[in-house]
Amino acid sequence: MCAAPLHHLTGSLYTVQVPIPYPMRTVTVLIDAASPVTLVDTSLNTPEAIATLEDALAQLGLHWESIERVVLTHQHPDHAGLSGLIEERSGASVHLLDENLQGGGLPWQHFEAWQGQERQHLLAHGLPPALLEGVEAEARRTRDRVTLATRLTPLTAGDQLTLGGHRWTVLWLPGHADGHLGLWQPQLDLLIAGDAILPRISPNVGLGAQGRSDPLGDYLQTLERLRQLNPATAVVGHYGPTMSGVAERAAELSAHHHERLALVEETLRVTPMHAHQLSAVMFPRELDARVRRFALTEALAHAEHLRLKGLLDRRWTGDTWLYFGE
Ligand SMILES: [Zn+2]
Ligand SMILES: [Zn+2]
Repeated sequence: MCAAPLHHLTGSLYTVQVPIPYPMRTVTVLIDAASPVTLVDTSLNTPEAIATLEDALAQLGLHWESIERVVLTHQHPDHAGLSGLIEERSGASVHLLDENLQGGGLPWQHFEAWQGQERQHLLAHGLPPALLEGVEAEARRTRDRVTLATRLTPLTAGDQLTLGGHRWTVLWLPGHADGHLGLWQPQLDLLIAGDAILPRISPNVGLGAQGRSDPLGDYLQTLERLRQLNPATAVVGHYGPTMSGVAERAAELSAHHHERLALVEETLRVTPMHAHQLSAVMFPRELDARVRRFALTEALAHAEHLRLKGLLDRRWTGDTWLYFGE
């Protein structure tokens, strides 16, 4: 195996691009090599990811047992999926935003019940039953790559933590995930952003069976917050490890979602549709099962945002929710 691509960020902070079996190809894991040795995000539980992280740690004179603390930007599999293995090998404490632990806890902790709710949700929004099998097989494949930590310690927005000898403030940046956090360090002008903002792709904003009711509304507020925060540099979950021009990118993504909202509103004023039909208008390309699900939940997030603003309505047809404009 080649040496893991380790990038020196500043002081004792490093990042490594860990391979994941998705189109983004890698996820960024940040390592603070000074005590308390900390990882921000973990990647997925695959042999390739484990080997890459092990090699990155070794390059810094560290090993699994050295890790004292893990912070998760959000609970998505490519960020949290290795946290259980790290907890087991190191005894590290694992922290994430308290929003994740409200209600029923994390979906990975009650996978079967969650999948049952998701099945009903996707069918009620028009996913053809013939596509359901592929979507569920993909979810099981992901579950097999997620080993979640068992002891999760909540962080609250506004909390401070020390990383690389600096004090960082915990920010709540919901939208891509309800419980998404950012870590902000004003002297370094540096934001650890996870997937809250990304170069090249628009972070998926989807409405699932569980969680907050208007993730797109949340995300538009997060983008405005990032535009105002205007960090010189952000550490990003994919296509990084870092990006500049965060304020400009936030404005661009906000404009993109407003264009999509206009398309959804116009489309549904002419032709009532359920979210799956709408997703084919918004994402006309052929999509595999994993992406088809993201397309449906993203279309639904746009339709629901407009409905909650009173610009659209929906009615139950007996088996699906049909969205329409007046
Ligand atoms: Zn994510
Ligand atoms: Zn991600």
